[in-house]
Amino acid sequence: MNAIPPNPAAKGVFIGNRWRPAAAGRTIPVLSPSDGRAFAAIAAGTAEDVDAAVAAARAAMEGAWGRMPAFERGRILSRLSRLIEENAAELATLEARDTGKPMKQARADIVACARYFEFYGGGADKLHGETIPFLPGFFVATEREPHGVCGVIIPWNYPAQMFGRTTAPALAAGNAVVMKPAEEACLTPLRLAELAAEAGLPEGALNIVPGLGEEAGAALTAHAGLDFLSFTGSPEVGTLVQAAAARNHIGCTLELGGKSPHVVFADADLDAALPVIAATIVQNAGQTCSAGSRLLVERAVFDAVVERLVERFGTLTAGTPEADLDLGAVISARQKARIEGYCSRAGQDGIRLLAEGKVAEGSPEGGFWVPPRLYGPVPGGHQLAREEVFGPVLAMLPFNDEADAVRSANDTEFGLMAAVWSRDGGRALRVARQIRAGQVYINAFGAGGGIELPFGGMKKSGHGREKGFEALYEFTTLKTIITKHG
Ligand code: NAD
Repeated sequence: MNAIPPNPAAKGVFIGNRWRPAAAGRTIPVLSPSDGRAFAAIAAGTAEDVDAAVAAARAAMEGAWGRMPAFERGRILSRLSRLIEENAAELATLEARDTGKPMKQARADIVACARYFEFYGGGADKLHGETIPFLPGFFVATEREPHGVCGVIIPWNYPAQMFGRTTAPALAAGNAVVMKPAEEACLTPLRLAELAAEAGLPEGALNIVPGLGEEAGAALTAHAGLDFLSFTGSPEVGTLVQAAAARNHIGCTLELGGKSPHVVFADADLDAALPVIAATIVQNAGQTCSAGSRLLVERAVFDAVVERLVERFGTLTAGTPEADLDLGAVISARQKARIEGYCSRAGQDGIRLLAEGKVAEGSPEGGFWVPPRLYGPVPGGHQLAREEVFGPVLAMLPFNDEADAVRSANDTEFGLMAAVWSRDGGRALRVARQIRAGQVYINAFGAGGGIELPFGGMKKSGHGREKGFEALYEFTTLKTIITKHG
């Protein structure tokens, strides 16, 4: 790996385009998932820092940022996209070191981050209202206004992508942002905030307060100065965020993960399907909200699929970012314990471990290593079939026919993403339309999906849509102006 770039995070909290020490003066060590050792520190922001950040954001809304024409906002975001591309090597190294993911994944994440700013930079001046036919003598028009000051809380799994996914549409729509990134991994968002200032974003339009969820995060969600909240993370914290939003009578979007199924019919092209299925559970060590973590297979081909996946899983290998293998370490000792807990309970309940991948020889001892695991058949009611493990663990379940496939696909509290694999186009579409999920792929699966594609949950996976033009709508509120001209 390249030399680790200077750590900007130690500089404190980023408010009004400047670093300042966190008010309480405390820091949080940043551990490398690959060896478990501290290699940096971030500021532990508290309510006082959140207050200052919200005040700076409000001042931006009332100042240059709030008055800026949409096309100029778009130009700044486009410049940021180019700066991200120019600094891609440094950002990818930082992202990989911070999260433990393979370099190729970190590079792809930085490309995606730049794409968010390219897409929404181009979209800023294309967001408009409409006119509505009404009574004679009236002219009615709608316009989309920014909410104002948006609180944004993101998780540790894709810090760079999550930064782009949330701040790019929020800023494009004209909001000011106060972000609380995850304490486990936030070095890239902190560096990206510096680049945003370099791109010309006015003071206060984007502020970052790193810190603990229960301190900085809770202070942000409870802040009476916010106009909107965007949260990505666990359903448990999502509930707290929504309750806080309700107390302040503001809207929020929640992206809370999933238990996304691959539905494989007997007529599917298994040569095309199985490599994708294996890849989408080990991507990011399974720590992806839209990971394909349930594999539903028509009974007639269940054994054949098991045989081929057992072979594949046996070769999947975890290693350091610079080893650049199939997956890296998981984010923390806590996350490793959580995943191992699911696996040992599955073992105790007699569920067969069909295959297990490897950890590369020579990987540092203190790393948070979890080899990929394939389990099956998993009973539909078991927690391995229903709950989000957030690790490289794939649960296989057989189904009997089309109706059973739909029932099984919907047999979870989550509804984020799904894939249907079949050569029968009519059936694939029929099944796709019956699955309760925000995104359904047919004969493909893009964990995370494209920047252009509206993405978000049904059921316990949350509500609101990110990505695509829909995200711009989420970050605006609609005003209707009714003129009686006689
Ligand atoms: P989490 O929900 O605790 O953390 C997500 C973000 O919320 C972080 O920035 C965190 O600091 C913040 N946060 C935590 N407590 C808060 C509070 N009281 N108020 C406001 N903000 C708060 O998630 P986690 O503990 O890191 O992971 C636990 C599980 O959540 C994972 O195993 C996984 O199942 C799920 N998860 C889902 C996603 C996703 O992309 N949907 C991302 C991360 C984790």
